[in-house]
Amino acid sequence: MKTADIIIIGGGLSGSAIGLGLMQKGVDRVVLFDEQRPTQRLSRGNFGLTWFMCKGASHPVYAQWSRLACKQWPDFASMLEEETGYNVELEWTGGAVHALGDTEFKAHEASIENLKTVCAEVGLDYPVSMLDRGAFSDLIPDITLGEDVSGAMYTPEQGHVNPLKLLGAMRCGFQKKGGTFIGGQSVYAVVPQRDNTVVVKTGAGEFQAKKVVIASGHGSKRLMISLGEHLNIYPQRGQLMVSQRSRRVLKIPVLAVRQTMDGTFVIGLSTEDTALNNRVTTEAMKSQASNAIRLFPELAKVNWIRAWGAIRVMTPDGAPTYTKVEGYDNIFAVALHSAVSLAPLATNIVAPWVLGEVGHPLMSNFKNGRFNV
Ligand SMILES: Cc1cc2nc3c(=O)[nH]c(=O)nc-3n(C[C@H](O)[C@H](O)[C@H](O)COP(=O)(O)OP(=O)(O)OC[C@H]3O[C@@H](n4cnc5c(N)ncnc54)[C@H](O)[C@@H]3O)c2cc1C
Repeated sequence: MKTADIIIIGGGLSGSAIGLGLMQKGVDRVVLFDEQRPTQRLSRGNFGLTWFMCKGASHPVYAQWSRLACKQWPDFASMLEEETGYNVELEWTGGAVHALGDTEFKAHEASIENLKTVCAEVGLDYPVSMLDRGAFSDLIPDITLGEDVSGAMYTPEQGHVNPLKLLGAMRCGFQKKGGTFIGGQSVYAVVPQRDNTVVVKTGAGEFQAKKVVIASGHGSKRLMISLGEHLNIYPQRGQLMVSQRSRRVLKIPVLAVRQTMDGTFVIGLSTEDTALNNRVTTEAMKSQASNAIRLFPELAKVNWIRAWGAIRVMTPDGAPTYTKVEGYDNIFAVALHSAVSLAPLATNIVAPWVLGEVGHPLMSNFKNGRFNV
């Protein structure tokens, strides 16, 4: 039987970020399996925001955790470029969430005040302010706002990346430091052993490790059930629409619309409960396109050329789960939405925790068991 120090099951953003962190910590033999089914496009086909604003509105610790992640993003992107040569196209331009009408403007104001207090409780700043319509328009002078836009909440301390390059960079960094990536291979069972090791069964044979990290997105549920634990996640579809390249006019991302470095507009804020069906629908595209046009009317003239759906991994409270599987000190599971935004923490905090370092104080709030009440 082949052996490793740590096996990670799932080479999406979460597994790759943790794998990179483990290699940076000097672990000798880490093996990362990814079954690479074409339908599992979540880590490649997301919206690419590195974002904290509005996150955790009803979960204070998640708000703090998201803020912490954004603080680490610029250094994280530089580290990835230095270690791998990948430019993940981080644009640290700030980001905005627009408001339509007076009521929404006031709700945004209230949300800022609330989250400022929440972040201050753990010594974190929350550098977000409201811009009136004029100030918002000055920020993005090359594109005209729709007439219903009353303003926006804005922070200079977040941005967006190219999610494909981010995934590529983290996998590359992991392998450059000696990690073994085994693609196209499913793990079908995780079997704890009496000698405190764990055997992982795959189509390519059995592998034995001292520790296992389950970071398999929706696939994690099945693996954990056989270990006796129900992972509290559910699927939520999001659909993205992508345009032809056009002149760069939107230089900061807005929650629902961004324009990439090469001029492509991306729209994507739909949410639907759909089990694991990732197809696109005209209803969702129509609805999100009309919202985007209400924000920026000239998007109606842009040629939209592609669309796809992907299935978010949602927890009931929206916050991430980082947990030890009940009854086992050496089997870990992670499940989360926002794995782009939270990637620096997966590498810098979650990976050391897997190695046995004391976790960040906020992490005790993210156990899977929090839902068992
Ligand atoms: C429309 C949309 C927009 C989004 N926008 C953003 C955004 O702007 N910012 C942000 O932070 N997040 C965003 N997200 C969320 C983000 O994409 C996810 O949080 C992230 O991709 C989850 O990564 P993961 O590695 O945890 O899971 P996954 O991406 O699901 O990766 C799990 C991997 O495990 C593999 N796997 C599963 N089972 C097995 C098995 N048995 N054996 C081996 N391998 C296995 C799969 O092949 C897969 O590659 C968005 C999501 C959607 C749908």
